Amino acid sequence: MLCVCQGTCPSFQKMNIFEVINYFRRNEKIDFVAIHPQLCATDGDNFWKILLGGNTNEITKIIVAGCAPEMQKRLFREIFRDTGFDESRHIGVDIRNMTTEEAIKAIEEALNR
Ligand code: SF4
Repeated sequence: MLCVCQGTCPSFQKMNIFEVINYFRRNEKIDFVAIHPQLCATDGDNFWKILLGGNTNEITKIIVAGCAPEMQKRLFREIFRDTGFDESRHIGVDIRNMTTEEAIKAIEEALNR
């Protein structure tokens, strides 16, 4: 999952986010991809509720590529608790200020963890 601070933040301008997610779709390393403009906003909470509601055991790992992992942990703690999603299955990857290739590499490393 890519989260890109509304798509207007300079931190995400060096990469092509569609190339990033298409790389993983082509390589079939993941079940699905999504881009959300702001997962930490109210509609982001709604997205999490719909995605995770009732499915928390089917999702083994969610990688969110966006801001710093520590920040993601803080921002998503409440919604993961509310939906019953085990937060240890969330892996945050900081891709800010990276190029397309650098972002792919960082996400790839998280996938192999
Ligand atoms: S979760 Fe992080 S990357 Fe996503 S909008 Fe919020 S601050 Fe930006």
